Amino acid sequence: MLRIGCHLSSSKGFLAMGKEAVKINANTFQFFTRNPRGGKAKPLDLEDLDAFVHFSKERGIAKILAHAPYTLNACAKDEGLREFAKNTMADDLERLSYLPESMYNFHPGSHVKQGAETGIDLIAGMLNEILKPDQKTIVLLETMAGKGTEVGRSFEELQAILSKVELTEKMGVCLDTCHVYDAGYDLVDHLDEVLEEFDRVIGLNRLRAVHLNDSKNPFESHKDRHEKIGEGSIGLAAMVRIINHPKLRELPFFLETPNELEGYGAEIALLREHYQES
Ligand code: FE
Ligand code: FE
Ligand code: ZN
Repeated sequence: MLRIGCHLSSSKGFLAMGKEAVKINANTFQFFTRNPRGGKAKPLDLEDLDAFVHFSKERGIAKILAHAPYTLNACAKDEGLREFAKNTMADDLERLSYLPESMYNFHPGSHVKQGAETGIDLIAGMLNEILKPDQKTIVLLETMAGKGTEVGRSFEELQAILSKVELTEKMGVCLDTCHVYDAGYDLVDHLDEVLEEFDRVIGLNRLRAVHLNDSKNPFESHKDRHEKIGEGSIGLAAMVRIINHPKLRELPFFLETPNELEGYGAEIALLREHYQES
């Protein structure tokens, strides 16, 4: 069964997102834990959460993915900014304990010319401060396009972070197809080799989610501009190979393409049509 959904606005609450997902034939979704620019989170509405948990069980919605605000920078040069990232993520994780089986994805950060090694140390250090042995939420590092001084532009950088985290069983990776293609991993002509490399460097057992996005820019452009499925440099045929690949097909796929709900629904229908049920 294809587990697929898209990014949804969380402004109307969890039950509303669940209903939107069902409307477009999605069985999972992603949402921002708070304003993506990093504001204060709304107080938790436990009634809404409870209603959502029931609804999602009934409708087969699972593996939902929370996304941290993308403005957080765990390896900022400024200590205050690093503190802010840490406190925000710790608060997010606390809140996610109310959502069974959820995962939490974040952009590792930008080292702002301190060097990737320093960035990696700061990110792992933050994780070691906020991860708790009893937490159920798995925290995912997102593969990045390598824009500016982004950390996580290569599988090696992600592995370097993972190797420094103590509660490593709480960690995983989310592979963003636009980002890795922009970063120089050729998912179009060498998908098998890219996955072998991921397995060798990080381990495919760490791969927990896929952001399914086409790219507006050519291979290795380090730009990070998402395109609609089939309309970018990756193309539909490669997307179909990705969702059907034996090493990926059981993972949850999340669309972050430039679409409104209706457009997401059309992409989900198109991908379902091309998924080979086993
Ligand atoms: Fe992201
Ligand atoms: Fe992404
Ligand atoms: Zn992106």
